[in-house]
Amino acid sequence: MTTNAELFERAQRVIPGGVNSPVRAFRAVGGTPRFISRADGPYMWDAEGQRYIDYIGSWGPMILGHGHPAVLGAVQQAALEGFSFGAPTEREVELAEEILSLVPSCEQIRLVSSGTEAAMTAIRLARGATGRSKLIKFEGCYHGHADALLVKAGSGLATFGNPTSAGVPPEVVQHTLVLEYNNLEQLEEAFRLHGPDLACVMIEPIAGNMNFVRAQVPFVRRIRELCDQHGALFVFDEVMTGFRVALGSAQSLYAQAIPGFAPDISVFGKVIGGGMPLAAFGSSRRIMGHLAPLGTVYQAGTLSGNPIATACGLATLREIRQPGFFEALSVKTRRLVDGLKAAADASGVPFSVDSQGGMFGFFFMPELPQNYGTVMTTDQARFNRFFHGLLDRGVYLAPALYEAGFVSAAHTDADIDATIAAAREVFAHE
Ligand SMILES: *Cc1c(COP(=O)(O)O)cnc(C)c1O
Repeated sequence: MTTNAELFERAQRVIPGGVNSPVRAFRAVGGTPRFISRADGPYMWDAEGQRYIDYIGSWGPMILGHGHPAVLGAVQQAALEGFSFGAPTEREVELAEEILSLVPSCEQIRLVSSGTEAAMTAIRLARGATGRSKLIKFEGCYHGHADALLVKAGSGLATFGNPTSAGVPPEVVQHTLVLEYNNLEQLEEAFRLHGPDLACVMIEPIAGNMNFVRAQVPFVRRIRELCDQHGALFVFDEVMTGFRVALGSAQSLYAQAIPGFAPDISVFGKVIGGGMPLAAFGSSRRIMGHLAPLGTVYQAGTLSGNPIATACGLATLREIRQPGFFEALSVKTRRLVDGLKAAADASGVPFSVDSQGGMFGFFFMPELPQNYGTVMTTDQARFNRFFHGLLDRGVYLAPALYEAGFVSAAHTDADIDATIAAAREVFAHE
């Protein structure tokens, strides 16, 4: 049998760091990444035949678990009919109709292949539609790796950001303003200084790229008001939260709390592809009319609306819109985080948890954090011990403390109870 360590060594010879996306390399937590050979339902098996209860779910897409029969059937049928045509298909229209029926803030949607591509284009669209250049993003929110978004805060609100990646010229991020998440004062000040020049404000409504931090309702309400007053567009990046935290996505939760609330542009990915490369961005017919071939904002993609990916996404969405699906998923996720919290309490480990739908977060701190700075005060060593303790016991959490977790419909109560029991053992050693 080939071991994970042997595969990792072989991988590092031909792929930088041995991985095709950095977090997979286990750099944050140390140790050897598991090379996954197959998955079924809530489980994954590594190259050594070790089974794991999977709480990554491909970072969100696998909301039905792995190999759901209806999804598998749709993908197999689509593969028989052809892999890619570079011409329109009825299934793209069906998927667009399906998404729009669940997200009333969007009248039209365009399908692309990754969340990065969707978020990048949403910004281009916002700039093209407003004729403005500047944008606001929040520290700790990830919107993919488009150049203009690889940025950290500058030295004050009058200055714009600094690149966080080599290879991004400062001029490319000079229009990006980075603010603290949930900080109303900074928001007011930024609009006061830059309001007439702002094309958009982009946010992760529940930030899953700093574990699990909710944008507070008054914060979202104020962004909406300021955008309206200053003619900027409000972009909800729901690549992670879309069809994951609720059937209507996170925006449906904010619309319950803020009467009439809707973002101007929404970005989706992950769940809408059901595990295949598929993402999308949508808006009103008026704003989407700026896109080529109707308008002057250019965007294109050889594999956009791929027939197999759309079949996979469509079959996934049809399953999750069954009555009671999100209620059951929420109960399951809640059972997990409540159990983890009780296990931590029993050992006197400071711990806080939150969840929504099939997405959850936990922190080794007594109170839930409200921004990135606080998230990053987490005791890294303690998180790493917890991560490896669970991995050794067959439970696979995200290998970094700033990542959210995901529960699928395939997880059973027994899986969740086994996870809590494993956590109790690990906490007992703290
Ligand atoms: C995953 C993610 C992206 C990037 O999507 P990719 O498909 O990895 O390019 C963008 N925004 C958010 C909120 C995400 O979680």
